[in-house]
Amino acid sequence: MISRKETKAYANQPPRFDDMICSLPAAPKIPKAMVKETRKVVALARKFNQEVVRPRALELDRRMHEDPDYLPWDMVETINDWGLYTLWIPKVFGGKGYNMPSMCYFIEEIASACLSIANLIGVHYLGVCTLTSTWNMRLINHICREVTLGEKNHTPCLITLAITEPGAGTDVEETDLIGKGNITCHAEKVAGGYRLNGSKIFISNGHVSTWHMVVAYSDLKKPADTTVVLAVKNGTPGFSFGRKEHKLGQKACPASELIFRDCFVPDEFVCLDPSQVTASQRPPREIAMQMIDYVVSATRAGVGAFATGAARGAFEAALNFASTTVVAGKPLINHEWAQCRLAEMYKNVTLSRLTYVETNYANGLHGAFRELQKKPMYYYYKFMPAKFFDKIMPPLMNKPFMTRLSRKVQMDGQTDDEMHRTSGWASLSKFGATDLGVKNCQMALEMMGQNGLRHDRGAEKILRDAKLLQIYEGTNQLNRLNLFKCLIAVDCPQATVFDE
Ligand SMILES: Cc1cc2nc3c(=O)[nH]c(=O)nc-3n(C[C@H](O)[C@H](O)[C@H](O)COP(=O)(O)OP(=O)(O)OC[C@H]3O[C@@H](n4cnc5c(N)ncnc54)[C@H](O)[C@@H]3O)c2cc1C
Repeated sequence: MISRKETKAYANQPPRFDDMICSLPAAPKIPKAMVKETRKVVALARKFNQEVVRPRALELDRRMHEDPDYLPWDMVETINDWGLYTLWIPKVFGGKGYNMPSMCYFIEEIASACLSIANLIGVHYLGVCTLTSTWNMRLINHICREVTLGEKNHTPCLITLAITEPGAGTDVEETDLIGKGNITCHAEKVAGGYRLNGSKIFISNGHVSTWHMVVAYSDLKKPADTTVVLAVKNGTPGFSFGRKEHKLGQKACPASELIFRDCFVPDEFVCLDPSQVTASQRPPREIAMQMIDYVVSATRAGVGAFATGAARGAFEAALNFASTTVVAGKPLINHEWAQCRLAEMYKNVTLSRLTYVETNYANGLHGAFRELQKKPMYYYYKFMPAKFFDKIMPPLMNKPFMTRLSRKVQMDGQTDDEMHRTSGWASLSKFGATDLGVKNCQMALEMMGQNGLRHDRGAEKILRDAKLLQIYEGTNQLNRLNLFKCLIAVDCPQATVFDE
């Protein structure tokens, strides 16, 4: 009928089969135990929602509105005591080592009850992901073990990503754009480390975190070629917190300004800089983009999960309202127009979820999870006792060859094509799911009339929270352009993206 050679040739024609769908090639490779593990994680999220999130969500939102400088320490401590800040830290670094895609299902559950509290958990993993994407094994081990110690000692130790600057938000997420941005965060190379000057804004969880993964530049005229990632801890001389943003939604999750004035960061806390990647097959500019891509390919799927949660929360609010309200002589749920609207909203939840699930399959095939999800590797980490790793790993991770080896496998081992696929899919999930999430919130408010606007009914809060999703992790406009660049323009030689 069709030969193997022909199948390959036709499947590789644009749009390539693997671009169209990632689950089909990825699913058979997934270790079966991941399904059971994911179910456990979702059950945990539902318990946490019932006992912690639902009773506190509205009260916390109101509290932050009335006192914008309030910091949600009690909630951060509760999350820490429930062990949620180490669930997705690999066992080799002292964490519980749950499979990475399961985080998105967990986040969706929490976000369906409160997007703000979901963010208080999820953003910590944005920091973890940035740290791990530098593949600096010594520092990953050092900082992640502080997080696990913080859990044992009941003193939360959270991590942030600090990349956005007052004059550059979209630009810093793309090496093709960064030269056009008004970049001011300068990491000057000095003897024994870097001297950091400048500021970062809108850093989620900033005020309640301990470590900050700061992306800065040693030559402000050539930022893309001189990107450095520095780990800065609270209390480092020259580092302080500035204002906390008074924002529309996600109020429980502080967005902070970080200020650096002659802040000296010693070499031992340099996660990644051009001098560390001289042996790499790619130039420092491409390594910087690859690192950012590793991060956002995972975390934009996470934003898709936040959005799915918001879409679900809005759907559930509308369904509850329609089931309990009588209009024109009969329950609203029995009006045909309401049934069509609810069906549309249900569809939006499902489509939104599919985008992050597919993106995670792409990450498992080509991106951040691909080594951890290989069956022998997965089962080795799963069944080896944590004590074994705690004993043998710390000294091993301090050996420079571990970082060299990881970078060889993860950075040199990932092709440009693989980078494009994960990045393109992640952008699709980011703008696709967040637009659907906001859409569902608007539909819920329309259906609920004046009740939709009441704070105590919860629906208006979901809309305020969801709107922010369209902006962070790159605006939805930027993500559309990135999808075009990664999944469409690669097959159109005549196309130029970002005015290259
Ligand atoms: C609640 C919240 C939490 C955040 N958390 C963090 C965090 O933890 N860490 C962190 O580092 N940052 C964080 N951010 C910052 C966030 O990533 C940026 O806000 C985002 O990348 C957009 O940047 P900007 O707001 O500066 O918009 P701008 O870059 O100023 O964009 C303004 C407009 O211009 C458009 N635009 C810009 N450039 C282009 C282009 N080249 N082509 C076409 N259109 C373009 C944009 O789409 C947008 O519509 C957070 C932001 C928010 C709102």
